Amino acid sequence: ARIPLIAGNWKMNLDHQQAIALVQKLSWTLRDAAHDYKSCEVVVFPPFTDIRSVQTLMDADKLELGLGAQDLSKFDSGAYTGEVSGAFLKKLEVKYVLIGHSERRQYHNEGDETVQAKTAAAFRHGIVPVICVGETLEELENEGQSAVPVRQTLAALAGHDKIGDFVIAYEPVWAIGTGKVATPEEAAAVCGKIREAISAEHGPEIADATRILYGGSVKANNVAGFLRSSEVDGVLVGGASLDAEEFSGIARFQ
Ligand code: 13P
Repeated sequence: ARIPLIAGNWKMNLDHQQAIALVQKLSWTLRDAAHDYKSCEVVVFPPFTDIRSVQTLMDADKLELGLGAQDLSKFDSGAYTGEVSGAFLKKLEVKYVLIGHSERRQYHNEGDETVQAKTAAAFRHGIVPVICVGETLEELENEGQSAVPVRQTLAALAGHDKIGDFVIAYEPVWAIGTGKVATPEEAAAVCGKIREAISAEHGPEIADATRILYGGSVKANNVAGFLRSSEVDGVLVGGASLDAEEFSGIARFQ
């Protein structure tokens, strides 16, 4: 069975001091709730400047929370001003990295080629890519709900010598930060289509092992609907991950 993944994407919020405060609070609320990290993984994705502080805290307090980054360079090292290598992230015990979030596709012109190259970099460094896919409102109207996410998924996974573990996060762009949520049925249908496409292209074994998450205006009071479907293996949470009570409420979805 696939272990549910509850992922908190902080985006460009919280400096390193605020990050420490939130992670401490989160670990207490999860501890109070006797959270079983083995049956439901909880991972936070802070900004780069917070990662070292969060990692030190996690090490010192033996927290079982997982650590992710929001992006990485497609290059490994060298004259690439402003970029962050997967090698550096790996050294800070970063386990996951978001790739191709719609905000990077939209504001930083990241297309399928860049997403594929960053996925390759994550594989090289032994970091699990969380590949973000999803359609805009315009694409929804022109192509329906699953065509774009399926196409983006296959593009990210194409052309690798060897595919390592990866996660897909289906985030309809029209549902991000808008309070508009896909219905659980819509989310399950698209995640199912993505899994079918992975199976057809890369075989049923990889498709069965891959976690496919839903993201877009997930809150403690709507998470259960998404996770009821066997097609949805977790959630990628933005705004609601900045509040310890709310985010641990999401992790207690059962
Ligand atoms: P919200 O949960 O704020 O809608 O953001 C979703 C998201 O983009 C997570 O990556």
